[in-house]
Amino acid sequence: MVSEKMYDKLAELLVKKGVNVQKDQPVIINASVRDADFVEKVVRYAYEAGAKYVSVEWGDSKISKMGFQYQSIETLKEVPQWFYDKRKYQQDGGACYISVESGKPGEMADVDGEKMRANRMAVYSKIADLMSYTMNNEGQWTIAGIPSLEWAKVVFPDLPDEEAFEKLGDAIFAVTRVSEDNDPIADWNEHDRVLIEHAKKLNEYDFEKLHFTSGLGTDLYVGLVKNHIWAGGGCTTPKGVYFDPNMPTEEIFCMPLKTGTNGIVHASKPLSYNGKVIKDFWFRFEDGKVVDYGAGEEKEALAALLDFDEGSRYLGEVALVPYDSPISKSGILFFNTLYDENAACHLALGRPYPENIKGGEEMSKEELAACGANDSMQHEDFMFGTEDMDIDGIKADGTVVPVFRKGNFVF
Ligand code: ZN
Ligand code: ZN
Repeated sequence: MVSEKMYDKLAELLVKKGVNVQKDQPVIINASVRDADFVEKVVRYAYEAGAKYVSVEWGDSKISKMGFQYQSIETLKEVPQWFYDKRKYQQDGGACYISVESGKPGEMADVDGEKMRANRMAVYSKIADLMSYTMNNEGQWTIAGIPSLEWAKVVFPDLPDEEAFEKLGDAIFAVTRVSEDNDPIADWNEHDRVLIEHAKKLNEYDFEKLHFTSGLGTDLYVGLVKNHIWAGGGCTTPKGVYFDPNMPTEEIFCMPLKTGTNGIVHASKPLSYNGKVIKDFWFRFEDGKVVDYGAGEEKEALAALLDFDEGSRYLGEVALVPYDSPISKSGILFFNTLYDENAACHLALGRPYPENIKGGEEMSKEELAACGANDSMQHEDFMFGTEDMDIDGIKADGTVVPVFRKGNFVF
């Protein structure tokens, strides 16, 4: 069972290791009103760490949902200037961002997808030039979760409420490396070290492409951009502040060459997109582009994802996660990308991370595109790793090096 003390340790972890709050730095927290008690702990730790001010941007998913149901599509497309100005003010002040997730997966399932898409597009377009702040790690940010009853009931539909809540809580805290008697910050430092080690090995190999195969039918070649960088563990801002953007994180990730992916990939876990849960889906790629696809459920939501914009049919990320990772071993499907993407190898359609190419964080959009990077306003991860997944790395001279056998690193 998750004790009060563990919530306290998690709050401290988010502040000191997650965003690593600096003296006189503004802290912005995005959270749901249902998590007010936990957020209060985070705020206190942030002030104790020297935050200049802490501002909480409260949300309530039921109220957001009513917004989508009752407002017209025209209204949903109106993004006021103050929305942009507020964010600009925070970023100009050097703020860091903490997001606490606890929402019910699939909550928006019965909302008109076209309305959600229109709103998402309008918001992204309005703040387009502010998005590099977190995408390029110019300022620190972190995302973590805490359990809610609504979420627990989706993950464990057959258990009584209290038991479901406790079980989800236990799982979340275990994979976030917070227990009654550990030192979470020390454990995270060690974990980061291991991830960085794996990334270093892959960087030394400098593969031209990777070949993935699995019993689900995946047979996929993913080309990597030249001068790519495999990254894992925490990130460092230009000011030299080290932080962990995802808690948990188990991945080592890289940048695919926009036109370099060929073959078929079968997803190994459902994908939650715009509040819909897409199941049993697959994509066929030709020269980087999704040219055919299918889904067992919610194929329309998948079409909306693919047709979002110019770059949403091309890959922006390839990530390796061992089958033996704690999240994978828990066997739990969280229906939340933060957890599920760290349970299995995954790919993302859409925007790449500039940190995955040498000098990328200083490049313009055009320069990144010239290096073969994709571009899109969205970034959607989906899982395709399995227990039996094999991965070979292929060097420019044709040398083949085993990277994964039966779901895990061979080195
Ligand atoms: Zn990833
Ligand atoms: Zn991703």
